[in-house]
Amino acid sequence: MQRRDILRTGLTAGIALLGAACQQKRPSVGGGMISANRRIRWRLATSWPPNFPVFEHGPRRLAELVEKMSGGHFTIEVDSAGKHKAPFGVFDMVRNGTYEMGHTAAYYWKGKELAMSLLTTVPFGMNVWEQYAWFFYGGGMELMQKVFGKHGLLSFPAGNTGVQMGGWFRKEIRSVEDFRGLKIRVPGLGGEVLARLGAEPITLPAGELYTALEKRVIDAVEWVSPAVDLTMGFQEIAEYYYLGWHEPAAELQYLVNKRRFEELPPDFQTMLVVAMKETALDATSEFFARNVEGLESLRMRYPQVKILRFPDGVIAELKRQTQLLLQEYASANPLFREVWEHQQRFLERARRWTELSEFYYLTIR
Ligand code: CA
Repeated sequence: MQRRDILRTGLTAGIALLGAACQQKRPSVGGGMISANRRIRWRLATSWPPNFPVFEHGPRRLAELVEKMSGGHFTIEVDSAGKHKAPFGVFDMVRNGTYEMGHTAAYYWKGKELAMSLLTTVPFGMNVWEQYAWFFYGGGMELMQKVFGKHGLLSFPAGNTGVQMGGWFRKEIRSVEDFRGLKIRVPGLGGEVLARLGAEPITLPAGELYTALEKRVIDAVEWVSPAVDLTMGFQEIAEYYYLGWHEPAAELQYLVNKRRFEELPPDFQTMLVVAMKETALDATSEFFARNVEGLESLRMRYPQVKILRFPDGVIAELKRQTQLLLQEYASANPLFREVWEHQQRFLERARRWTELSEFYYLTIR
C-alpha cells in the first residue's frame, strides 16, 4: 500500500493493509510488524474546552486506539484548549510542529486559505452522506490534501455533526430586516451570508458564549444542535431555537503536520489513519444519538423554548446571498473555485440519488 493511497482514501486501503499483514504474521511487540524499537509520542491540540461532550470523545478514543494497536509504542497526548489556551491557534501550532496534530474544524482557517471554508460544510450544500461520498469516493480527499498541503499540513475527516440548528435567538425572526444589526456568534460561510443581510457575525471560543449571550454582548448564538447545545445552557436565556440552513453537514477535522506524518513508520501511519476514520464514524454516530436524547430533553425540561423555521422569504434570501457570496469568492480565488465547482458537480449528480432514495423514503415512512 502506498502512502499516497492511504491519504487519498483516508484509509479504506489502510484497513486492507492491516488485514493482509495480520494474516501473514501475528503481530508481536519486538517482532517484525510493529515498529519494534520505536517509541513515538505525539501531542494533539483540540479547539474545544476541557471535557467537551462528544467533540472531545473522538480524539481521546483515537489516542486509545493508536496506543492499543501499537502495543503502547505510539502514544498521543490530547490537550484541550483549557490547557494550551489557543482554540483558534491550532492551525499554527500544528503547522509549526508545537503539536503533531489537532482536532478542530477546517472553516476556522479561512483567513489562512479561503478554500478551507468549503471543507467543513457549505450552506445549502451536501448532506452528511453526500459529503462522505465526495470525500472518500468523489475526489474530495485529493482536493483537501491539495488545499492543506500548501501549508505543510494534512487534513482528515473527524466526525460529522449532521444538520446543525440555525441558532438560539432572544427575539423572533419574522423577516430579513430582523437580521439587521443582530450580533450573532456564527463562524464560516454562514456568518458571511448573514453579514450580507446586515447582521454582525462574531466568532468567540466556546467557553465564552454563554456569558456573552447572557450579558447581551451578542443577541444570538449558533452552536451545534441539541446533542451539545443543552450542555452550554443557551436554553435558559434564549427562547427561540431555529432550524438550520448554514451547516448541513459540519465535518470536524484532524489536522496533521505533514512532515511529522511522513516521518512515522508505515505501520504507525496506517494505525493513525485507521483510527482517524474509525473515530470519525464513531463521532458521527454519537452526534446523531445525542441529538435524539437532547431533543427529548429539551422538549421535556424546557417547554418554553420554541423550535421554529425561518420564514420562507428569509430562507430564499439566505440561499440567494449564499450563491452570490460563493460566486464572488470563486471569481477571486482559483483554489476556492476549483473546490467549489468540484463540490457543485458532485452534488448535482448526488442529489438525484438522494431524492430517489432518502428523500422519497422519508416521505413514506
Ligand atoms: Ca455551528
